[in-house]
Amino acid sequence: MVTLPKNYIDLHPEVEAFLSQTLPMYYGGKRAPAQSGKTFETVDPSTGKLLANIAEADQADVDLAVQAARSAYETGDWHLKMTPSERSSCIWKLAELLESHKDILGQLDALDNGKPFASARDVDVFWSAEHFRYFAGWPTKIEGSTIPVSTPGMFNYTLREPVGVCGLIVPWNYPLLMASWKMAPALAAGNYIVLKPAEQTSLSALYLPKLFEEAGFPPGVFNVLPGLGHKAGAALVAHHGVNKIGFTGSTEVAKEILKSSTGNLKRVSLELGGKSPNIIFADADLEKASVGATWAIFGNNGQSCTAGSRLYIEQKVFDEVVSGMADETKKIKVGPGMQLEPSHLGPVISTEQMNRVMGYIKEGYDSGGEAVSGGQRIEGDLSEGYFIQPTIFKNIDDEAKINQEEIFGPVVCAMPFKDSNEILQRANDTQFGLAAGLWTKDVNKAHQIAAKLQAGTIWVNTWGNTDAASPFGGYKQSGHGREMGKEAIELYTELKSVWMRIDG
Ligand code: ADP
Repeated sequence: MVTLPKNYIDLHPEVEAFLSQTLPMYYGGKRAPAQSGKTFETVDPSTGKLLANIAEADQADVDLAVQAARSAYETGDWHLKMTPSERSSCIWKLAELLESHKDILGQLDALDNGKPFASARDVDVFWSAEHFRYFAGWPTKIEGSTIPVSTPGMFNYTLREPVGVCGLIVPWNYPLLMASWKMAPALAAGNYIVLKPAEQTSLSALYLPKLFEEAGFPPGVFNVLPGLGHKAGAALVAHHGVNKIGFTGSTEVAKEILKSSTGNLKRVSLELGGKSPNIIFADADLEKASVGATWAIFGNNGQSCTAGSRLYIEQKVFDEVVSGMADETKKIKVGPGMQLEPSHLGPVISTEQMNRVMGYIKEGYDSGGEAVSGGQRIEGDLSEGYFIQPTIFKNIDDEAKINQEEIFGPVVCAMPFKDSNEILQRANDTQFGLAAGLWTKDVNKAHQIAAKLQAGTIWVNTWGNTDAASPFGGYKQSGHGREMGKEAIELYTELKSVWMRIDG
């Protein structure tokens, strides 16, 4: 049984019971150990201590799970035998169940990821349920069209159909939410899914089978395979029984996925990293911009693909904004997400990630940077976990490695700029294009700059908003395809054109 530090919130009895078993995978409506009998560990990043042992999927398990999903697809248990209205009801019911299990799911994500319990429950689980609610409305609205073709005697129409079996591979930064972003549209479009959670944070995904069963999904529609990226993930990507891969993760792994998915030319959509420019003009509400820019980077501990990690501040207000941000940063409490005294930020996810982020911080100092806040690992009581001070650097060039590569941790560089022309060129000078933002009271300027920034999402006088109804995805090396909104339904459907002779 898992033993947690004394200053943690009491575990929900179901969480305690859940963590006391070796957690199985789930396919074809059944829980199963790995064919190899192997397991892997998941640890609490706040203490480095074991949380649970999990069945480790490899090729043999991927084969079985894909087979289970394929056989449900071939018999049409979800997309043909159930009506659109019945599918809507199941998806809506799942949303309700996520909400009624928010304490359990919130605790699982807070333990596994380290994020504050309140964020896990009231942000991640809440928005996951909202996501399913939005997509619950879609099964009854996925339509084809009648096409006015010019061939005499012909009637032509289109049908929008599910792609088939979808492998959904997700990261550890928002474990339940990232899975929900992919599962909800895939299911709404009538697909059969094999979810591969990140090895660092599989707990909430492994709790889902119970909720899917209770919501009335037929066996084989939802399957989950815990395991390592280069084994279970890679086997899923290469599998000929998989019609589509939906991936969220690093640009590096995405390039491997594109190569290894070519065997059956499966569809691939990619939501990847970023190095998002956040631009503060002198005519902005500087107090709001300083607070906004602080949370644009430090929200979720900088472990967001949309983190505002390149901060550009107009020269004449540079010092004022940086000092406003340093003041805001001083108020941030860092600590285990499950501790009784609430924290704003938890640890980073792993030793490996901590060493990576600390490497970038060293680069910052080595490139002549001055840390106006943070700049060190947090030791003392927290030395067993992977805690890093929220760090703001100044005096670092655009070209420095720390300003070019995605850090995925609580580190930002603030850089001054002179005018709009200069800033556009600098903001767009990156391999990424996931998000960008600007702060100004000048509406004309806001529209002009928003139109010229090369990114899939632009935020004006705000940061980080997403909504199930609004398309989300990247330009350049930040990805292919758009999640959310009607675009996500297009992503998870095939379009069929039907020709019929009607002139006798
Ligand atoms: P991060 O840097 O955020 O950990 P990754 O891209 O490494 O992102 O991982 C995101 C997801 O991709 C995880 O579920 C991971 O297990 C999986 N993954 C990692 N490597 C591969 C791979 N070669 N093929 C398929 N999936 C992989």
